Amino acid sequence: MKQRLLTPGPTPVPEETLLELAKPMIFHRTAEFRAMLGEVLGDLRTIFCTKNLIVPLTASGTGALEAALANSVPAGAKVICLIAGRFGERWRNIAKAFGIEAVSVTVPYGQAVQPEQLAKALADHADAAAVCSTLSETSTGVGHDVAAFGKLIAKTPALHIVDSISGLGAMECRTDEWQIDINCTGSQKALMMPPGLAFLSVSDKAWQAIDKNANPRTFYFDLKKARKNLETNDTPFTPAHTLIRAMRVSVKKILAEGIENIWARQRRFSEAARAGFAAMGLESFAAQPNVALTVVKMPANIDSSVLLGKLEKQYGLKLANGQDNLKGKIIRLAHMGHIDQFDILSALAGVELVLIEMGHAIEPGVGVTAAQRVFANK
Ligand SMILES: *Cc1c(COP(=O)(O)O)cnc(C)c1O
Repeated sequence: MKQRLLTPGPTPVPEETLLELAKPMIFHRTAEFRAMLGEVLGDLRTIFCTKNLIVPLTASGTGALEAALANSVPAGAKVICLIAGRFGERWRNIAKAFGIEAVSVTVPYGQAVQPEQLAKALADHADAAAVCSTLSETSTGVGHDVAAFGKLIAKTPALHIVDSISGLGAMECRTDEWQIDINCTGSQKALMMPPGLAFLSVSDKAWQAIDKNANPRTFYFDLKKARKNLETNDTPFTPAHTLIRAMRVSVKKILAEGIENIWARQRRFSEAARAGFAAMGLESFAAQPNVALTVVKMPANIDSSVLLGKLEKQYGLKLANGQDNLKGKIIRLAHMGHIDQFDILSALAGVELVLIEMGHAIEPGVGVTAAQRVFANK
């Protein structure tokens, strides 16, 4: 059976990128590798919409989140964490691990933190060293208005730190224009890569905070050391250089399509997926959906764990369940990265078949038709 991976990370990797990974091993302290790293980081600047330095890390995306906080915020300082789901909660947990006080601004799962809530938190906590937010809250499908957050934070001494893992490369994200001081992402979501690489862009305001922090509680993720090495496109430790070599192919593919064209295509994918699910009677779980994935609630008598099990076993379609207390209640269809409209139509068709099998009264084709209407502008 043909397998289709439609989870919000890892995501499918293009064949030309996978073939790079089959090539013989190379040494990393060479002019060739330095040129390759320089090229990939340069291309990533276009994708991040930034002129800032981008630091590569050999880690999953969370490594970038940890590097951001450990380097820029001293122990005992305070950060504001905007929490709309599991990944917002991760910011609070990282802060805790580094002895940083976290002030949580929390909304129920499915909702988005609103700029007014941040404005109030900034007024109440003028001493906050940073605000940590999430562009695409992958656990609920919510997207945040990071541009509005940036406007508010830029007026304060606080750093604007964003988890854009799963968002960057799918949702509009303009690092410099939105005044994001540290923008953290990972390779295995919208960037069409296997897991293993993390990247963070660092603004001048953030470097000032990092330079002032004399004792960052990290060795491997020391950003000052990384910056020094990047002067010659080098890294302090052995990088996952075969992944960098493969990434050159994926980022070129992104640049060939154009990042703004990708954002527009993703908006269309999101609209089509939501229309398809709505036609089957499945409501969006996210009040303010982001375009990287679509998350919908189950009808009252249907357990998403059963539905997803059947989808995988009978049709080779791998979608994601909810996490923790959302398990069994929602399904998450990722359409970021190397995904096309036919992957989305396949997923919708599979969900229809399983819903019908489970006794949900719908006509075969209703969801697919609604999505096709979006693709056909009808
Ligand atoms: C996937 C994801 C993460 C976790 O990244 P890892 O690569 O598993 O460390 C963090 N934040 C968001 C928003 C994500 O989507």
